[in-house]
Amino acid sequence: MSHIPTVAVVGSGPIGSAYARVILESSPDIRVVMFEAGPQLTAVPGESVRNIADPDEKARARERSQGPLSGEYRESLGIPAGVVVEGMFTARQGTHLLDFGGPGSAHAPTFPAAAAATNVGGQGAHWTCAIPRPAFSEKLDFIDDAEWEELISTAEGLLHAQHAAFADSPIGTAIRAVLHDEFGAELPEGYGVSTLPVAGDPQPDGSMVWAGADTVLGPLIEPGTPEAARFELRDLSLVRRVEHDGSRATGVTVEDLRTKEVSFFPADAVVVAADAFRSPQLLWASGIRPSALGRYLTEHHVVITTVALDDERMSALISDDEFAAELARRAQNAADPVAAVNRIPFSEPDHPFSLQVMYAENPPFPLDPSHPAAGNRWGYVNMGYGVRKHPRVEDGVTFDDGELDYQGFPAMTIEYALTEAEQPELDEATARLRRAGAALGSFVAEPRLLPNGSSLHYMGTMRMGPVDDGTSVADPFSRVWGYDNLVVGGNALIPTANTMNPTLTSVAIAVRGARGLVEQLATVGAAEAAR
Ligand code: FAD
Repeated sequence: MSHIPTVAVVGSGPIGSAYARVILESSPDIRVVMFEAGPQLTAVPGESVRNIADPDEKARARERSQGPLSGEYRESLGIPAGVVVEGMFTARQGTHLLDFGGPGSAHAPTFPAAAAATNVGGQGAHWTCAIPRPAFSEKLDFIDDAEWEELISTAEGLLHAQHAAFADSPIGTAIRAVLHDEFGAELPEGYGVSTLPVAGDPQPDGSMVWAGADTVLGPLIEPGTPEAARFELRDLSLVRRVEHDGSRATGVTVEDLRTKEVSFFPADAVVVAADAFRSPQLLWASGIRPSALGRYLTEHHVVITTVALDDERMSALISDDEFAAELARRAQNAADPVAAVNRIPFSEPDHPFSLQVMYAENPPFPLDPSHPAAGNRWGYVNMGYGVRKHPRVEDGVTFDDGELDYQGFPAMTIEYALTEAEQPELDEATARLRRAGAALGSFVAEPRLLPNGSSLHYMGTMRMGPVDDGTSVADPFSRVWGYDNLVVGGNALIPTANTMNPTLTSVAIAVRGARGLVEQLATVGAAEAAR
């Protein structure tokens, strides 16, 4: 029987899914088996939990994503609903803290909000779906502009990018008008106030079906397609090690979490896309330890506020009929708190920030009925500036072979600090947030810097680089230096100081990595056939 080249993908989030899709669509010969530690939450694998209309079902799906199966840990890992800022781009239901404080916890006192999701679809089952493009120095300078443009466009296609979501919302339009009056003159052409690109499919009633890993997987999960015949997704399958001979991956050792059975799965190539902390942890546990592994951790910091929209300003911009139509539209989809999304993108040199403005009917936290802004008829905006963190080798995660975590992996310790390099931009972002809030209405929550780790966008811990000089883990095709058939994926590869949601960038990087891997496997296959 002829050998069918097999790729093992670790992790079923948007990045593992992008690998599976691009590999299977690029080659009719390859088979992909995807291993996911968490459970499948929805009938369609990887669907966004935000699309679940029933509140109890939605809460249950979130709870099932919050960590390991063991009842012993479940309680301590889940983040209580009362402390979240739901509906903001820092929403966190469905995730579990890495440093949960119980036995087997990570240690992250300087990065306390670090969190992960463990379920089919990964964090992509819970995400807010904002997919702005990276710009200026956020881009990777070792991939040329024409290729980058094509990669980003392909990634936008995989994620069903919408550049004008909620564009017909009169309140969304009014918010843009107010922000344009306040900031427009200071912003460069093409980088002014606009709608925020999001991933999903607009519905005739004006609501969105939000994209998840299911969207990225596309034909792989449609019964009867040629790609589906060569794709397999195994949930509750924890990859314990990437097996290798020092320069080639040979497969993965997997624990079936239902039966506790541990087995070796041979593969011609391995893709590790298990998030920015657990991917480096898995490599470390497998004895693959490049010096940059886990180092150069960044996120974008977030200064946020909530503002009640001002009656006078909104009434001047929105007619009664338009407002009535807006209320009717919102009522149709009460389960989804976000009703319009706007932004001011990153631009250099004068606006090294990303502002995101989410309009919602209710504030993201309970407001005392006696509060003057309670029940505001125009609703609220939750908005925040993303501020960059300049990469430093000192920031990162280390793994201790002498202390095992709750899953039996070397325990993580995260060390991280904001420095003088970030402070001026944090101050400037706070000042701008005050201006934006004052222009739009009255503050319901004062502008504040969220604790480290709150962005959920962790980058740099397996960064890409153009040369193997010890400051990167992967080459420009995402292959771990020294291993042709071991590829890494996810936000961890982003080496730049980034101010915004990184998933689109990571999918673009994955498209390049997947194409490179298909070529690599074809070359190896041709050489074997010639022998
Ligand atoms: P993940 O989605 O984290 O998936 C990794 C998967 O690997 C997980 O399912 C995990 O269980 C699995 N895994 C880990 N270890 C193993 C193992 N050893 N064996 C098997 N499986 C393993 N990003 C944006 O760009 N825009 C947004 O608006 C946005 N909003 C967000 C809002 C929330 C509430 C959250 C939680 C995240 C948000 N993000 C957003 C982040 C976005 O979801 C991530 O960037 C994206 O999901 C990363 O994809 P990934 O595939 O690399 O990793």
